Amino acid sequence: METVYLDNAATSFPKPPQVPRQMARYLEEVGATVNRSVYGAAQAAGMVELRLRQRLCRLFHFGPVTHAVLTPGNTWGLNLMLAGFLRPGDHCVVSSMEHNAVMRPLQALAKQGVTFTRVQCDALGRLEPKDVERALRPDTRLVVLAHGSNVSGTVQDAAAVGEICRRYGVPFCLDGAQTAGHLPVDFTSLGLSALSVPGHKGLLGPSGIGALLLDPAFAQRLTPTVSGGTGSASDSEEIPAYMPDRFEPGTPNVPGIYGLEAALAFLEETGVETVAAHDRALTARFLDGVRSIPTVSVIGPDAVEGRVGVVSLDFPGRDNAEVAEALEREYGILTRCGLHCAPSAHKTLGTFPRGTVRFSWGWFSTENDIDRALEAVRAV
Ligand code: PMP
Repeated sequence: METVYLDNAATSFPKPPQVPRQMARYLEEVGATVNRSVYGAAQAAGMVELRLRQRLCRLFHFGPVTHAVLTPGNTWGLNLMLAGFLRPGDHCVVSSMEHNAVMRPLQALAKQGVTFTRVQCDALGRLEPKDVERALRPDTRLVVLAHGSNVSGTVQDAAAVGEICRRYGVPFCLDGAQTAGHLPVDFTSLGLSALSVPGHKGLLGPSGIGALLLDPAFAQRLTPTVSGGTGSASDSEEIPAYMPDRFEPGTPNVPGIYGLEAALAFLEETGVETVAAHDRALTARFLDGVRSIPTVSVIGPDAVEGRVGVVSLDFPGRDNAEVAEALEREYGILTRCGLHCAPSAHKTLGTFPRGTVRFSWGWFSTENDIDRALEAVRAV
C-alpha cells in the first residue's frame, strides 16, 4: 500500500530533489567548513552560506544580511532569543497557543524571576490583538507569538499585534514555524524585532538548521547564551561583538546550509504566493470533505480563511491515538496524534489531554492525497 504523507507540520516531505543533491555534493565533493580556512573549497562553501542569508533576507523582506543568524533549528533560535533577552524582573506576553519551544524556556526563566502573561485565545485558537494591549505592563519587555498554530492551523493577526508593540515600544518576536514558506511573512511591515524559523518545515530544507532574523537594535540588547570559536577575532577569549558571529559559535551545519540554500532557491522559483494558493486549495478540499462526515469534528477554524494547511480532527467517542494508528495500518495515511508539544494550545481548543489527529499538507501534497485521507477518515 502506498502511504500518504500528511505530517508536514512536523517536517516537510518530500524535499525538492536539489536539496539532497546539494547536501550530497557538499559531503562528497566540497567537504570544507566555512569561516575558518581560506582555500578554494572553504571559500566556495562560504559563498553558499552567504547566498543562504541573502535568500532568507529576500524571503522575509529583511536586512541587513549580517543579522540573518543561522541556528541549529527553531527551538534553538527561540531559546537564544528568550534566554538572551529576558532578565529577572522582566515581564513577557505570550498567547495561549504557544508551542513548548516557547513555553518550556519561558517556564525555566520564570524560575529565575521572569514573569509572563498568557493571553487567552478563543476556542478556535484566535488571539484578539486588543487583549495583548491589555496585557502590557510597564515592565513588559517582550511579546512572543506563534504566527500559525501547529495544532489547529490558526494564523494570528501578527500585523495588528506588531502595530500595538510598535506603539508601546515593546519588541515583538514571531515564531514562524508553521507559516514560513507557507505564507508571505514580511519582517519589516509586521514590525518585528525577531523572527525564528525552522529550515525543515515549510522552507523545505533539512532538519538541524534554522534561522533567527534579528532587528539590529534588538540584537544589540541580546546576550549570547552559547559561546565558542567563530573563526574570527581569534586573539580574544571573548565572543565577538559583531554579527552574525556573536550568535554563531562553533562549526555550523554545512550540509544543512547547502540543503537549505537549495530549498530556498526552489521556493523562490516557485513563489510563496503559489505555495499558499496550493495549500489553500487543499485545505478547502479537506474541510469540504470532512464536513460531510458526521463522526468527526474539526478543531479550530473550519474555513480556509485565517489558517494554514494544518487541520486537527477529533473522533468523539474514540481514542484518537488508536484512530491515527488505524489510519496508518489500514489506509497508509501518515498523521500525528497526541498533544503536538503544545499542551497550552490543546487546553485552549478544549482537546487536552485527549489530543487530536492532525493532518498537514504542503507543496508536494496532491488532491489525490486529500481524497485518500478523506476516504480513510470516512471508513476508519
Ligand atoms: N513552534 C511551533 C509552532 C512548531 O510547530 C514547532 C515544531 N513543531 C516549533 C516551534 C519547534 O520547531 P523545531 O522542532 O523545528 O525546533
